[in-house]
Amino acid sequence: MPREPKDATALTRASNRAVLDALPFADGQDFEDARRGFVATLPEVEIKNADGRVVWTLRDYGFLDDAEAPATVNPSLWRQARLNMHHGLFQVTDGIYQVRGFDISNMTILEADRGIVVIDPLISTEVARVALDLYVHHRGARPVTAVIYSHSHTDHYGGVRGVVDEADVRAGRVEIWAPDRFMHEVVSETVLAGTAMVRRAQFQFGATLPRGPRGQVDAGLGKVTSRGTVTLIPPTRVVREPFETHRIDGIEIVFQLTPETEAPAEMHMFYPALRALNLAENATHNLHNTYPIRGAQVRDANAWAKYLDEARDRFGPHADVAFAQHHWPVWGRERVLDFLGRQRDLYKFLHDQTVRLMNHGLKPAEIAERLALPKSLASTWHVRGYYGTISHNAKAIYQRYLGWYDANPAGLNPLPPGERGRKYVEYMGGAETVLRRARADFERGEYRFVAEAVSHVVFADPANTDARELGADALEQLGYAAESATWRNAYLLGARELRGGTPTVAARAPVSPDVVRAMSLEHFFDYVAVRIDADKAEGRRLVINWIFPDVDRRYVSNLEHCALTSLADRQSDGADVTVTLDRGVLNRLVLRELTFAEATRQRLVAVDGDAGRVAELFTLLDDFPLMFPVVEPKRAPG
Ligand SMILES: [Zn+2]
Repeated sequence: MPREPKDATALTRASNRAVLDALPFADGQDFEDARRGFVATLPEVEIKNADGRVVWTLRDYGFLDDAEAPATVNPSLWRQARLNMHHGLFQVTDGIYQVRGFDISNMTILEADRGIVVIDPLISTEVARVALDLYVHHRGARPVTAVIYSHSHTDHYGGVRGVVDEADVRAGRVEIWAPDRFMHEVVSETVLAGTAMVRRAQFQFGATLPRGPRGQVDAGLGKVTSRGTVTLIPPTRVVREPFETHRIDGIEIVFQLTPETEAPAEMHMFYPALRALNLAENATHNLHNTYPIRGAQVRDANAWAKYLDEARDRFGPHADVAFAQHHWPVWGRERVLDFLGRQRDLYKFLHDQTVRLMNHGLKPAEIAERLALPKSLASTWHVRGYYGTISHNAKAIYQRYLGWYDANPAGLNPLPPGERGRKYVEYMGGAETVLRRARADFERGEYRFVAEAVSHVVFADPANTDARELGADALEQLGYAAESATWRNAYLLGARELRGGTPTVAARAPVSPDVVRAMSLEHFFDYVAVRIDADKAEGRRLVINWIFPDVDRRYVSNLEHCALTSLADRQSDGADVTVTLDRGVLNRLVLRELTFAEATRQRLVAVDGDAGRVAELFTLLDDFPLMFPVVEPKRAPG
């Protein structure tokens, strides 16, 4: 078991106390807005799956009842964590309701002619069903006539089977709407980089951290992510033009596509008759991420600002309320325009000033250190960095234009962390000397450098417990002082793993069967290719024809030079073997519901040619255990 977290140091306390004077804590508007329209909630929000496992609970967050922040939490983050505790069913305006606090995201419900339109059914079916039941209990039972996915992130589609039956979708009784490229982006973000992203997301959201004043308090956008059953029903209607107007179950909706913003496929919605503007996830009550620290392709801050400007210009003057798929709404035309103007300028400022400093030759870390919000924005609660930060967003903007390399050739080909650590420790006079100096710096509050210096010692020698302890102590104080929930979570999980080691649970990143079924064959072959272990593939040549009769597709795969490439609608005359199987069988193989040998035995797969060569391909496939080490070196390759 990891050792218990420590208390805040005097310096951390002072740093957190200073926040109280720097920000307008007397302004209670957000609390008023977060409560406004409250209809009802459950006596206790704790949701279990069919096996009785808790997939969502607010029970552990009771410590947030206290209005005053403890010394171990930045007061600005504490305030956000308390705002995110508002949960239940809320009326946004006539005909629009939201369920908040039943997952990290909101479910929005539009009351339509024949039934209701559900926007974003949360992450998992269990929480989505309970959220919908809460609505039904207070507003009456009406059929779901349409679902709209505002964008391609899991917290906006994963619970869909909790609110609709796919048979109704197939029969045309329920439409599913999504922005252009939705399916492509869902698969490409969750499949190829899946394992690395899921593991890194533990550091971003803090889902595996204990809750409490010395643990996870929030995730910025909401409390945390639910941990139930993730599903996906592909859209039946896709918005493809920059602006499209449709009537969905009697409600006029103007869609505005906003590609490459918070998600690669995303859209705003304006409901003219309801005078309400839905900004998906592009304007929320915090600075969002141009790059989330879980890892992702960098987003376009310039486009983000442009689409917010368009939304403000076109819809703002006609909106009495603006809301998003996280957090709480903003009411009143003037406040909507002010809110959108500030959100727009936040992303524009970040983008333009980063690019300006980049063109002056500043390096990413220098830009991150230099940039601060303009004075006119700094006291605005909804632009503060509870989720993204100015620091890591600026580095991401640099990366989008210039990549990871800062142009100093000293950093072009540095030693990898283990070897670098050993050399640093040696140059600095040995581990004992490093730790002695680091302890003195810790006393002076130099937590950032202590964390870095001591990490070199840990990478040189992961068994050095003194180094691990001191590194953990430094990360922990950084976490306690962080305004960003995601930084706090990362620091505190880092501290926990330095103290207790990398958890050794044998787990793989969960893959939703619905997402596997939704993969195109191109994605499938990409997915197989990234699992080829180059060491094992050295010197091998393999050509396989694939036939998928049920979907009438053919592929030829070529393994050569340790690289597996696959061409669509081609077959090779000189193939080693031809494999015929239905797409459904392929899905079961990918999901490990079936092995290739079993599939062959059950005659679900026909092999023409040298069957041993197909088996050979499978022996080359690597496996990705989820819990790879992060704060210490990987011990054995594998
Ligand atoms: Zn979201």
